[in-house]
Amino acid sequence: MDENVRFVVEERIKRTMEQLKKNRMEAYYAPTKEEARQIALGLLHEGDVISCGGSMSIAECGLLEAVRQSGQYRFLDRARPGITPEEIEKLYRDTFFCDVYLASSNAVTEQGELFNVDGNSNRVAAMLYGPKSVIVVAGYNKIVPDLAHAVQRLEQIAAPANAKRLSCKTPCAVTGVCQHCRGDARICSSYVVMSHQRQAGRVKVILVGEELGY
Ligand code: SF4
Repeated sequence: MDENVRFVVEERIKRTMEQLKKNRMEAYYAPTKEEARQIALGLLHEGDVISCGGSMSIAECGLLEAVRQSGQYRFLDRARPGITPEEIEKLYRDTFFCDVYLASSNAVTEQGELFNVDGNSNRVAAMLYGPKSVIVVAGYNKIVPDLAHAVQRLEQIAAPANAKRLSCKTPCAVTGVCQHCRGDARICSSYVVMSHQRQAGRVKVILVGEELGY
């Protein structure tokens, strides 16, 4: 990355981290995705029961595979080969009792808010309550000035790209932009803003100086 662009990105990250901390979330800066993975692994403890959302970011930084392969944790693996729909449903419920939940965020505002939108809502539910600790890994591309831009980001990038990835039968998976659909396949059902946290430090946000996910 050009050093002047790097400067702008790092200042944006710094501003966002200050506001996240004011909202009683822990905030970390990782210049690279490899460093993001190391920071996240440093927040885990041997024997932890770990679950995760369907995040591209935690996969792209290698965190998902590191947890899966480590043997030090009990990983509730929603992508285990052969897992049945019934087992996935049970895993979503077991997630409420886990030690650590790994996820990304659809957007992180410079006001220190996490903005997430789910269809099934298992991810936002776990981020809000249940797991003792929530670790969020977000590339700088997820940072937006405010909630209005977070909604814009969702409708123009995050949701259409996820709909395409998951082969959802939604209009945005065809047009690449939100059409405010109303069908059963809609992946935008629960709009959740996490702001000032009552439980300080439960949510840890690792902001990465590289693009991750969408
Ligand atoms: S078209 Fe539907 S699923 Fe796609 S972004 Fe809009 S509301 Fe979400």
